[in-house]
Amino acid sequence: MHTTASDGTLSPEELLVYAKEKGIEYCAISDHDTMDGYLQGKEKAKELGLTLIPAIEISTGYRGIGVHVLGYCLDPLNPSLEPVLNFVQKDRVRRNHQMIQLMQEDGIDISYEKLEEEYGDIIGRPHMAKALMKLGLVSSISDAFDRYLKRGEKYYVKREYISFVDAIEKIHACGGIAILAHPYQYKYEGKDWEQFMLDAKNADIDGIEVYYSGYDLEQIDTLLEIAKENNWIVTGGSDYHGTNKPHIDLGVVNVPDSCICKLLI
Ligand code: AMP
Ligand code: ZN
Repeated sequence: MHTTASDGTLSPEELLVYAKEKGIEYCAISDHDTMDGYLQGKEKAKELGLTLIPAIEISTGYRGIGVHVLGYCLDPLNPSLEPVLNFVQKDRVRRNHQMIQLMQEDGIDISYEKLEEEYGDIIGRPHMAKALMKLGLVSSISDAFDRYLKRGEKYYVKREYISFVDAIEKIHACGGIAILAHPYQYKYEGKDWEQFMLDAKNADIDGIEVYYSGYDLEQIDTLLEIAKENNWIVTGGSDYHGTNKPHIDLGVVNVPDSCICKLLI
């Protein structure tokens, strides 16, 4: 789940209240490149009787593309995490400024200051998408990504990432387990997919996100098979972002009838 500490639209407290309303008992705030949302929400979770698993979603680089690695059960105060997060956060800001400049050069009325005023300190492409929507330039957030913001489109600027391998190592150094997030999102197929899985294994990944909003039962079955072959931990995530991803609701993923869920706490 994402909060306003990254690119979700509910504050950690609001999100946890919503999780409680939905009947959720165990959950993880896995904001992009920060554990601030988790730290903010910890007390509220206790108050509500929810188990809040410490988590993060780190943006990493693998073969020139951005691959997300989830860290679960890690110590948010471990000093080895800070330099990594500083690097990733700083580079996000650099990238944001460049994307906004490209839009401004095209005459689009957008500014970093206005985005910060509206959405807080942590800005990501979903906020830019919302701004483009407000200006009437796109019809939805996904339209904004498809036409302007995704890799290969006009206003996309690449971020510098820490390597996939380093991120996994850091999560381990903080006592956590490293999980490959939404494995199909990177559009690998055939030999490239096989290489991706092999590289994840060689990088010492602990598990894979099998249950994910939008993945159908066939996709889930394939991922379950891969997890079994590699002896990987299986996790699930809705990737809830509030109104930044309006098609996703909290705690909702497809789960086959045959699924036996093992909780990792
Ligand atoms: P950023 O970290 O600023 O590069 O933005 C990444 C965020 O944008 C993540 O929450 C992604 O899930 C979201 N995102 C990436 N591609 C798309 C897309 N095509 N449509 C909607 N959201 C997307
Ligand atoms: Zn996000």
